[in-house]
Amino acid sequence: QEELFKKLVAHCKEYGFVFPSSEIYDGLGAVYDYGQNGVELKNNIKRYWWDSMVKLHENIVGIDAAIFMHPKTWEASGHVSAFNDPLIDNKDSKKRYRADVLIEDWLAKQDEKIEKEVEKARKRFGESFDEAKYRETSPRVAETAAKRDEVHKRFADALNANDLAELRQIIVDCEIACPISGTRNWTEVRQFNLMFSTQMGSTAEGANTIYLRPETAQGIFVNFLNVQKTGRMKIPFGIAQIGKAFRNEIVARQFIFRMREFEQMEMQFFVRPGTEMKWWNEWKNTRMAWHRALGFGDDDYRFHDHDKLAHYANAATDIEYNFPFGFKEVEGIHSRTDFDLGSHQKFSGKKLQYFDPETGESYVPYVVETSIGVDRMFLQVMSAAYTEQTLEGGDSRVVLKFPPALAPVKVAVLPLVKKDGMPEVAQKIVDLLKYDYNVVYDEKDSVGKRYRRQDAVGTPFCVTVDGQTLEDGTVTIRHRDTMAQERVKIESLHAMVDEECSY
Ligand code: ATP
Repeated sequence: QEELFKKLVAHCKEYGFVFPSSEIYDGLGAVYDYGQNGVELKNNIKRYWWDSMVKLHENIVGIDAAIFMHPKTWEASGHVSAFNDPLIDNKDSKKRYRADVLIEDWLAKQDEKIEKEVEKARKRFGESFDEAKYRETSPRVAETAAKRDEVHKRFADALNANDLAELRQIIVDCEIACPISGTRNWTEVRQFNLMFSTQMGSTAEGANTIYLRPETAQGIFVNFLNVQKTGRMKIPFGIAQIGKAFRNEIVARQFIFRMREFEQMEMQFFVRPGTEMKWWNEWKNTRMAWHRALGFGDDDYRFHDHDKLAHYANAATDIEYNFPFGFKEVEGIHSRTDFDLGSHQKFSGKKLQYFDPETGESYVPYVVETSIGVDRMFLQVMSAAYTEQTLEGGDSRVVLKFPPALAPVKVAVLPLVKKDGMPEVAQKIVDLLKYDYNVVYDEKDSVGKRYRRQDAVGTPFCVTVDGQTLEDGTVTIRHRDTMAQERVKIESLHAMVDEECSY
């Protein structure tokens, strides 16, 4: 799987999906640029989300708030005091780690150890293997599992109590070593705030520290009444937004999974107090259905309820996807109570209440949010779509099996040869389709090679213009996944592409 992930990262670069930022200067940690195909896929993902939220729900509207916000916003939201990661340094390698991630990795390793033992036993015992009994009675497995459970409980308690000394003690007790130096010479654990700051104002004296937003949600909360009043919105209703967010992540790994500059698609849904659990459950199901509708296979998604709730939440779950490096969060669905609106009310001195015409009461609404990273969704789609195939005759191909609606390029138009008027007809077909779809024209190399190039960027249709086209106005259309070819009239192309690429 690790091999596969490396290939996927290399493929993203080779085919113009994702490049390291400022690569000629050797890149910038955990910052990436999207290339010519990447930006199309990313835009399509955003459109798929925006349409499903804003277009299809009469009671959800969109906004686009600024990245910079008044500094008080981040005091009210709790980010100045509580948006921290627990850090620990190894004194020998001078490398910095997130204490919680070191412990999570240790826990995952214990699980791996247990599964390996079980697998070994299964091979040894063959048909007669009783797995449940083995897990209970094998001393090695039972001991590892007991230790694992004990550490897991200590870890969850330490996180909830924000007990930094206990986090360090767990690292010491589990004899966790630095992956670089191999030693266990650790510093104390300290809190590190994840927000990037900069100065606003023309003189140093007058400068004010402001933050790059670490989540888009606050732009929605401070605009809650503006939108509610001008849009005459009635509770329950939602506000959706897509935009950049910034976090000074310490452990930046796994390519675009964890970035320092990334994009979020968030929707805050305002509800009557007391109804939030019903809406939280409803949005959990709606969002899971949205992911599964892409058709990548239901078994690779699961819910993961949180051990530790963020300072604003009374319920939280993640939708996780089975990435090549394991099940990891793609989206969070959080019940944020009235924490944010209530807190902004206190800090700003402005009332942020809703008058409910049905009950005749005024109240601060409760909020259920769905929050998904565009880049993480991009990586999810890439991981699911990337396929290596051996073909009949021993040939092989890499094909990105994107749902057609998300594919960066919908149609490639290919003249069989560069003469006899075929390029001109091909160009006319491009003109016919280009107002509605992203279409490319390619006349270089053999048709077989051109098909491979389109497979590698996930183009669902290749249209080939040949001798027969000049006689009867038909072309060959070749389907990406099945590689099946059929002969169709040029006039019917538009409807065909439309049928397959809509959602
Ligand atoms: P994690 O536990 O992975 O750090 P989180 O629980 O802090 O994520 P949220 O604050 O709930 O994440 O953010 C909502 C979504 O934003 C996440 O589900 C993820 O898709 C995305 N996201 C958060 N941080 C990053 C990041 N550093 N890079 C890319 N996407 C991110």
